[in-house]
Amino acid sequence: MLKVLRKAPQLRNISKTACTLTGFAKTLTQQEEDPQQEIFVFVGAPGSGKGTLVEVISQFKECTILGVGEWLRERKANETSIKNQMCNGELLDDSLIKDWAIETLTTALTDKKKKMIILDGFPRTIAQAYVFLNWFAENKELGHFSVVQLHANLNFIEKYALNRASCPECKKQYIPVDGSPFFSKILGICDDCGVPLEKRCDDTPETLAKRIALYRQETAKFLPILESNPHAEKTNLYMSCTKENPLDQQLANFKQILANENGI
Ligand code: ADP
Repeated sequence: MLKVLRKAPQLRNISKTACTLTGFAKTLTQQEEDPQQEIFVFVGAPGSGKGTLVEVISQFKECTILGVGEWLRERKANETSIKNQMCNGELLDDSLIKDWAIETLTTALTDKKKKMIILDGFPRTIAQAYVFLNWFAENKELGHFSVVQLHANLNFIEKYALNRASCPECKKQYIPVDGSPFFSKILGICDDCGVPLEKRCDDTPETLAKRIALYRQETAKFLPILESNPHAEKTNLYMSCTKENPLDQQLANFKQILANENGI
């Protein structure tokens, strides 16, 4: 099903800083010296690991997370048309997202203890990119923002997105690592709550292929707008998962670096 996408042209790849998860963790540990709040815009194909990474960072850093997908899944779960669009892998209308995004960003600025403001899934279209840039221009004290682009190949995405699951009770995410589809002690059951794990309705081969195609189409349009802003800094983060270097081990190292910084 995803074979057709392998022939698609690759996205433009402008490299300012290129790193692995370990390199990125080290970059984050330096951020603490800066008293200013900093915005991180995470951009990456569906199933490239954005949500997992953001969740790990939030365990060690005081941060505000603007997670559009999570917000839609939790708050709009009862709105059938929204749910259908999400399960179909379609992007929702910009008007639904933009007011909430700006309100969340503006509130984040009032909580100065939270040095990191992480955008996961916003902006995602040209219109949203301009909404973000206009807001940023009105908040000049921020100085700059970082665009963190996750790069993952289709093997990684297939392995990751088609096998991940989460607990409907505690929301804990279970990610696949080599040889273990859900990485729970009992296959498919939450370690903590003992209830069956759930998969996202859009994590099917057909919908995933559609979401990746849409991501490539939309990202190719809005990413250059973000990156060409004189206040943008860019990090290319390369995600990988092999038998020799499994993802769980990489995430454990990532956590360790952030934990050491906090003296944990
Ligand atoms: P993924 O990055 O894997 O697509 P998300 O959880 O970020 O997963 O998003 C899930 C779905 O939520 C998307 O397929 C889309 O329907 C909707 N969505 C998320 N972010 C946006 C956005 N910025 N604009 C419009 N729709 C969005």
